[in-house]
Amino acid sequence: MGAFDGKIAVVTGAARGIGQAIALKLASGGADVAVCDLQVEWLDETVKAVEALGRKALPLAVDVGNGEAVNACIDAVIKAFGRIDIMINNAGITKDTLLIRMSEEQWDDVLRVNLKGVFLFSRAVAKPMMRQRSGAIVNIASIVGLIGGAGQCNYSASKAGVIALTKSTAKELASRGVRANAVAPGFIKSKMTDALPEEVRSNYLGLIPMARFGETEDIAKAVAFLASDEASYITGQVLSVNGGMVM
Ligand code: NAD
Repeated sequence: MGAFDGKIAVVTGAARGIGQAIALKLASGGADVAVCDLQVEWLDETVKAVEALGRKALPLAVDVGNGEAVNACIDAVIKAFGRIDIMINNAGITKDTLLIRMSEEQWDDVLRVNLKGVFLFSRAVAKPMMRQRSGAIVNIASIVGLIGGAGQCNYSASKAGVIALTKSTAKELASRGVRANAVAPGFIKSKMTDALPEEVRSNYLGLIPMARFGETEDIAKAVAFLASDEASYITGQVLSVNGGMVM
């Protein structure tokens, strides 16, 4: 028996990287998964991998910063599966530059996807989850949401916002049986971090006591725990997964 047998999960930003790893981890535990990303074709690889695990995958194109699209996405999931047990807010972007060079557009774009997107999906799943009197929301924050990051005023502010949003959501929904937690990854190997200059990457490595970058599966395992009934008395928490980089 899998931890997620009979459960329905929604994962945003599931085309690649951490989101794809989370979708596969939940499917391997028995969940059927609605996988969301900007374009439906980008989700082909994830859909095939979920189906190869014997589970159903529902690919949906959605821009997480667009409220109408988010509501339509959740309606489509309810129509297809009848319920939502697990919501994973993973989609995120970076537009790094120093504060003095940061444009309003760079600020707005990152806050729109990383913070507003989590708000919109949390709002959309709250009603069906409250009605069911059960549900688990897991939001992907970041280590820089806890300690800040030079060149990342927009990104770190968005992730600190995700942490506060998670805690407020947890307080509002706890009495209805719905939990909300965050995972704060450190430096994880993905397309997002592949784009960083070599010097930045080696500087980060020197700060990690475990002396390796994280794998997407390291995050997926922590997310699966918080989404599972094993974490039934855990809400409003931030679980750091960073090889000891910040303690
Ligand atoms: P990634 O760039 O590989 O994947 C992000 C996914 O989100 C992509 O598939 C992308 O198409 C999708 N996406 C972007 N904007 C979207 C939008 N508006 N609507 C829907 N989907 C959208 O990145 P990743 O490294 O896998 O990161 C996943 C999450 O983990 C992000 O929230 C990121 O901030 C967070 N994170 C990553 C690291 C790391 O080291 N990689 C560290 C801390 C936090």
